Amino acid sequence: MEKLIIIRSGETVLKGKNRRLFEEKLMKSVRRVLKPLGCHSFYLQHNRIYVPIEQRDESPLLKALMKVFGIDLISIAVKIPVVMEGIKEAALNELLHLQLQRGVKTFKVQTKRTDKSFPNSSQEISREIGAYLLKHTEGLLVDVHHPETTIHVEIKESAYIFSDRIRGLGGLPRETNGNAMLLLSGGIDSPVAGWMVARRGVALKAVHFHSYPYTSKQAMDKVKNLARLLSHYCGPIQLFSINLLPFQQEVAEKCPDDEGTILVRRMMTRLAELLATSHECDALITGESLGQVASQTIQSIRVTNEAVSLPVFRPLIAMDKSEIIQFARKIDTYETSILPFEDCCTVFLPKRPVTKPRLDKIVNSEKLIEMEAMTTDLLNSVEVEWVKEPLHQVVCEDALS
Ligand code: ATP
Ligand code: MG
Repeated sequence: MEKLIIIRSGETVLKGKNRRLFEEKLMKSVRRVLKPLGCHSFYLQHNRIYVPIEQRDESPLLKALMKVFGIDLISIAVKIPVVMEGIKEAALNELLHLQLQRGVKTFKVQTKRTDKSFPNSSQEISREIGAYLLKHTEGLLVDVHHPETTIHVEIKESAYIFSDRIRGLGGLPRETNGNAMLLLSGGIDSPVAGWMVARRGVALKAVHFHSYPYTSKQAMDKVKNLARLLSHYCGPIQLFSINLLPFQQEVAEKCPDDEGTILVRRMMTRLAELLATSHECDALITGESLGQVASQTIQSIRVTNEAVSLPVFRPLIAMDKSEIIQFARKIDTYETSILPFEDCCTVFLPKRPVTKPRLDKIVNSEKLIEMEAMTTDLLNSVEVEWVKEPLHQVVCEDALS
């Protein structure tokens, strides 16, 4: 008997002609997390990835796989010779385990038979195993429509027996949907926004704006740590940082006080777009959520949007703060996000920021500043580094429960 992990992808299977590319990318992501655990002998077969567990403890492998986008379901299967007695025995072990661990009360057996030389039909096999399971257990019923668990029996060159145990992160494998530039602040929202878009197969790059020495080195370290936490899921992230202080000082000196926030937001978005287009990104991502603060009213978002032409993805736009916090806890960024360090947006914060900015007024205020020279200077001062984390430190306990 051999024990192995079977990885199934959901949408990946649906991608028609692109399926091969999607499968290759999923294999690459799986390799990225399993290799550091000394696991090299996994393989792709008929839309699935098989990971022999061998003598290992399976839980570190499962935890690592729980951080891979594009995985829908993870099962632990036994692989045995195609002999009916053995198959029944293995199915019984699996069902008893589920009854004991999860209190399962209803089940069904589902058989898939690619080896047509096997004498019985799939339905006959399911029925025979089902009857055997009922006879050798107590307190369990068959429910073919809404079973609490399905015992899968697959008959190929060998027989595989497993149940649907663990739901993966879903989404699409990394690198199947281009690149996007995340505007990463030190807050709660932007890491969640980046994670959500990355789950759709988008590779992330990130840009952070600071106001050193008004903002501290610790604030920058916090942002790097957030990028590091994201890289558990997304792979290494190229992080750009720009000191926005010269622009903020000019705005404070020359522009109406209440327009400070919106002018800074437009500048950030513009700089992010310039970095994005010079680094093969086709979209920006922000953690904006409608009405959360003055710069996130519908009018402010429109005026910010007018500064750029790339699409701006705002996956949190209709979410409540409490939902975003819940999400941040799940992906493990929350505790880092709430560390108390000044953000550049709080430097020179207007007392009463305009909440319904008018585009024509804002554009006029920008004319008071040498925007082109300022943009060039700020871009010339950009710092860049790759952020990554050793993968064997990856843990996500509650994702498994
Ligand atoms: P967050 O929790 O992400 O900081 P927030 O509620 O503080 O969000 P804002 O400060 O208005 O909201 O920022 C909205 C979005 O603008 C952020 O989610 C982020 O995408 C981007 N942003 C804000 N500040 C910065 C910054 N210093 N560097 C990079 N991006 C930023
Ligand atoms: Mg912020």
